Amino acid sequence: SGARVRRARNKKLPQYLERGVDVKFSDVAGLGKIREELEEIVKFFTHGEMYRRRGVKIPGGILLCGPPGVGKTLLAKAVAGEAGVNFFSISASQFVEIYVGVGASRVRALYQEARENAPSVVFIDELDAVGRERGLIKGSGGQERDATLNQLLVCLDGFEGKGEVITIASTNRPDILDPALVRPGRFDRKIYIPKPGLIGRIEILKVHARKKPMAPDLDYMAVASMTDGMVGAELANIVEVAAINMMRDGRPEITTDDLLQAAQIEERGMLDRKERSPEMWKQVAINEAAMAVVAVNFPDLRNIEFVTIAPRAGRELGYVRMKMDHVKFKEGMLSRQSLLDHITVQLAPRAADELWYGKDQLSTIWAETADNARSAARTLVLGGFSEKHYGLSNFWVDIDSEALRILHKCYGRAKEILERNRNLMDAVVDILVEKKSLQKEEFFNLVKLHGSLQPMPPSV
Ligand code: ADP
Repeated sequence: SGARVRRARNKKLPQYLERGVDVKFSDVAGLGKIREELEEIVKFFTHGEMYRRRGVKIPGGILLCGPPGVGKTLLAKAVAGEAGVNFFSISASQFVEIYVGVGASRVRALYQEARENAPSVVFIDELDAVGRERGLIKGSGGQERDATLNQLLVCLDGFEGKGEVITIASTNRPDILDPALVRPGRFDRKIYIPKPGLIGRIEILKVHARKKPMAPDLDYMAVASMTDGMVGAELANIVEVAAINMMRDGRPEITTDDLLQAAQIEERGMLDRKERSPEMWKQVAINEAAMAVVAVNFPDLRNIEFVTIAPRAGRELGYVRMKMDHVKFKEGMLSRQSLLDHITVQLAPRAADELWYGKDQLSTIWAETADNARSAARTLVLGGFSEKHYGLSNFWVDIDSEALRILHKCYGRAKEILERNRNLMDAVVDILVEKKSLQKEEFFNLVKLHGSLQPMPPSV
């Protein structure tokens, strides 16, 4: 019986399987002709035998191309939902943001799971993160990515019973993909998904209105007319915001006015993201530069891949991509010191705001990172990482005051590093404002030129 227990324990639950995916083509609106192409992919699953018998080649992979938020992920799910097969997904940026060697083994694990649970759809989001033409990225980060890409090619090239597992990937940059990826038998089918037009927007709004109490005389045309340029993700958001509006006023139905107001809010957000004033660009640049400049001082966080202030639909202001061990981080296996370093990095934007704009001019641009710092500090204390011992009396009070003490220390440390690296900050900010993003090599060149990195003593 010992053996049986061991076997049961060894049989791992699939890690990349998304359970309960129940999306149908009717949930994706404004597709027009694209729908026929996707229906054919469903047939590869449902009528695979027929295709094989007639010698029709089943594509190795399908590439969904288009800007963020147009519904590429939703479509991949709908293919799985219509075919009634399992859906496995991973974001390619998860392949590269981690320690060397992990990317390739994740790809292997992903495909092994998909095969063991076939028929299945494997969905790879942001394929360009790993599929960028080889040789374009130099240094160790490039090698890691190459190893991952090679593994992906091996998996795509396959195995017996091709057609049981179909890979769908999404990208906004099909033009920069490694040519090896788009060779016949691999991602040999491209489907472009454009931003929706007027009619498309009406249809998308209606799909999201289906489960909501809409006023019977709702003027979808009016809403669609004033949302030119918006994608499905933004339109879905508008319906949600309108619903909140209705609830807040205690009304039973969503009106045209609710939608128009919500559209205005979304539009303003969009403008903030796309047409920032020069001051706004600079402020965002300081925010992101501060994280990178502080992070580069710490061993677990200095693997900076790039820094950007280019807005991405519906996402944060900008971001710093660091290669760090997300697995370890999620499972709480990071050392006490790296947790402290992490907190310090998350407080860097707040510290920079104070240093560059002064205490009276503080903005809220760093609200999210400060929040991350707060919850990490609590984790640190609750996880027993802190030196202080806690009696049961005053448990919560002590935790909060100890977390606060840690936050203050880390904040001081972030400020100290930034003050010591004012020249580096200025250089990074200038380039960010001008070019919107900074690749790894450029960043480290600036660090070499202007940085003043010192091994910091563990200080909390
Ligand atoms: P992408 O993968 O292209 O970035 P997503 O599929 O993640 O976009 O879209 C995010 C959300 O936006 C979806 O879950 C859905 O709610 C909404 N959405 C996007 N496009 C559509 C569409 N064509 N029809 C209906 N909803 C959409």
